[in-house]
Amino acid sequence: MSLITIISQLLLIGLGVFYLIRSLFPIHTLIQELSMGTLRKKWTLLSLLIYIFIISYCGFAYNLWLIREEANHLSFAITMMLLFGGMFAYLVGDLALQTMTDIKSLAVLKHENITDGLMGIKNRRYFDQRLSEEVALAKRYKLPLSVILIDIDYFKKINDTYGHKIGDEVLINLAQLMESVARDTDIVARYGGEEIVILTPNSSKSEAANLAERLRIAIEKTTVATIESTQEIIQVTASFGVCALSPIITDQEALMEEADQALYLAKKYGRNRVVSSNW
Ligand code: GH3
Ligand code: MG
Ligand code: MG
Repeated sequence: MSLITIISQLLLIGLGVFYLIRSLFPIHTLIQELSMGTLRKKWTLLSLLIYIFIISYCGFAYNLWLIREEANHLSFAITMMLLFGGMFAYLVGDLALQTMTDIKSLAVLKHENITDGLMGIKNRRYFDQRLSEEVALAKRYKLPLSVILIDIDYFKKINDTYGHKIGDEVLINLAQLMESVARDTDIVARYGGEEIVILTPNSSKSEAANLAERLRIAIEKTTVATIESTQEIIQVTASFGVCALSPIITDQEALMEEADQALYLAKKYGRNRVVSSNW
């Protein structure tokens, strides 16, 4: 073959090597992003194979140069295969990284969509959706379902005395406290303002009332904020309304109305207490 043909083939092999090297960048980023596990091991193996390919490409190019006089159409076909192989590896790495980035952004968006921006617990929209799903499930499989509505006592006073920023800090700490006390299967959400709601699937009214009592005691004992300048500690209490699905309380509207009514009574009877609905 002519020298020009051989040099063109060598350039094409060089381009293949270039694509292989380029494919290593996204693959290495991907490996770093992945936690330890089979997937990470497989991507690491793939990157090792690419290194081996790069060495093999260079070996082929060297041999092609040595046999340049006898090179034929077969060597051209191999050159093209190597070039496409390099492009293929590059596309695999690039697309995998892009797909992972897109999936991560989607997960962040989904999290933001269902999370309350201040308290960091689930938002009202998510709660309403889960409530209707859980009510349907509970009715279908005849399982208990309870709800606890919580309102902080005299919270306006916290805002008025210490300012909104401290008020916000109190809300964040209380929300975290409730999430840590509730079970993983319970849904802890901001119901509105400084009201928090806990939906407890598979729990009877008395079990939910026990949880509410544990929360009440935990809140009472906790320092929910500290004033830096004076080292004054802030403690609050909360009132709880508990209600469960029953032959009388049969839908989500009645469930929430009754929980609200029980909460109203808890406030009326002196606050810092748990009241369960009679129905
Ligand atoms: P009660 O014992 O009757 O519940 O008295 P309260 O003062 O807590 O009364 P209420 O529950 O009606 O007050 C709610 C207050 O919560 C009013 C509002 O300013 C405050 N609040 C609502 N949302 C936020 C918030 O996101 N941040 C802060 N800092 N305050 C909030
Ligand atoms: Mg309130
Ligand atoms: Mg309140």
